Amino acid sequence: MTDTAHGAQQTAAAFRAVYGAEPTGIWAAPGRVNLIGEHTDYNDGFVMPLALPHTTLAAAAPRTDGVLRLHSAGADGGVVELRLDELRPPSAGAGWAAYPAGVAWAMRAAGLPVGGADLHYTSTVPLGAGLSSSAALEVATALALDDLHGLGLPREELARLAQRAENAFVGVPCGIMDQTAAACCTAGHALFLDTRDLTRRHVPFDLAAEGLCLLVVDTRVRHQLGDGAYAERRAGCERGARALGVCALRDVPYAHLSAALDTLAGDPVVQALVRHIVTENHRVEQTVAHLDAGHPRAIGPLLTAGHASLRDDFKISCAELDLAVDTARAAGALGARMTGGGFGGSALVLVDQDATPAVTEALYAAFAAAGHTAPRIFPAVPGPGAHRLAV
Ligand code: ADP
Ligand code: MG
Repeated sequence: MTDTAHGAQQTAAAFRAVYGAEPTGIWAAPGRVNLIGEHTDYNDGFVMPLALPHTTLAAAAPRTDGVLRLHSAGADGGVVELRLDELRPPSAGAGWAAYPAGVAWAMRAAGLPVGGADLHYTSTVPLGAGLSSSAALEVATALALDDLHGLGLPREELARLAQRAENAFVGVPCGIMDQTAAACCTAGHALFLDTRDLTRRHVPFDLAAEGLCLLVVDTRVRHQLGDGAYAERRAGCERGARALGVCALRDVPYAHLSAALDTLAGDPVVQALVRHIVTENHRVEQTVAHLDAGHPRAIGPLLTAGHASLRDDFKISCAELDLAVDTARAAGALGARMTGGGFGGSALVLVDQDATPAVTEALYAAFAAAGHTAPRIFPAVPGPGAHRLAV
C-alpha cells in the first residue's frame, strides 16, 4: 500500500469515528515549494512552484440541511459547525475553520450550488512552514465540494475560489501562486506560471535523472514581523509601479532596469524592491530556459542570486534562513535560497545526490552550534496536484 492510500484509509476511518457515517470520497491537495519567483505573484510576474508529496486529505460527505461541519486531526477544539447561509466575510476569530468555510462561502458567493457537507482533514504538510498548508487545505476543500456537487469546475477556477476564500474570508492578502500550485501541478514537473494571465506550462523537473536533489530545509521558525512586512513590501511595489507609470512591476523589462532605478533614485527603499522584482522575474525566465535545455545544474547560481536579492533588496530573510543557505553552500551545494514569504519558513538547497549526506549533516551541525531548533530536512520530489483518491 502506498503512503497516500494508507493515509486515505486512516482518513476514512477517522471520518467514520467523528461523524458516525461513511465518507462519500477522499480528496487530496499538496503543499508546495516555490523553486524561484518570490514575491513576484502580486506584481503580475512569474513563479515556478512544484507540488510536494506532502498532502492534505479531505474526507467528505454531503448534507441536505445547509450545515457545514469541519474537523481536522491537526487542530484542537473538536467539530466546528456552521450554517452556510450565515457565513459572512471577514471571519474574524474563526481560527483554522475559516479556510474551508471561506471556500464554501466563495463558491456560494460565485453563484455555485454548494450545499452542506461534513468534512474531516488529515495532513502531512507542515503548518506555517512556508509550504502552503493553507492552500492545500483550501484546494482539498474546493475539489471535494466541487465533486460532491458534480460541478466539474476547471482547475484554475478552483484556485481562484480558494484564493478568494483566503483574501476575503480569512483576510490574508496572498497572491494566486499557492492555490494554483495545489490545484494544477503535475508529478515530475515544476509549474511555470504567469500570474498576470494565469497561463501555465509544466516544465519537466526530474533532478534524480541528473544525479541531483532539491532539499527543503524547514527552519521551524516563523518571526512575528511577517504579516505587516508583507503588506509593506506589497505597498512599496505598488508605489514603484505608479512612479514608473506601469500597471505592475512585471511591465518593467529587465533591459530597462537601470533606467527604472534612475527614475526611483529619490526613494531607495522602493528602488531596492523594484530591483528585486525585476531581477527575480528575469531569474525565473533563465531557470525555465536552463530546465528546457536539460541543464538543471545551471539553476544553482540563480537560486543563490535570488537569495541575495531577497536578503539585501527585499529584506525578508532572517538569521536561520541565511545560516541554512550559507552552510549548504559552504558544504558543497550548487545553490540555495529561502523560499516562501520570508522571516522564517523554509530554504531550498540544490545539491549533488552524492553530497546530500554531507550537506544535511553540516546543516544540523550549524543549527545546533547556533543554538537554533534542529531543522526538518527532506527532498522535494515533485508530486501531483489535487486529485480524488480511491478509498
Ligand atoms: P502555510 O500556508 O505556509 O502553512 P499559513 O499561515 O498560510 O502557513 O497557514 C497555516 C494555517 O492554516 C494554520 O495555522 C491553520 O489555521 C490552517 N491549516 C492549514 N492546514 C491545516 C490542517 N490540516 N488542519 C487545520 N488547520 C490547518
Ligand atoms: Mg499559507
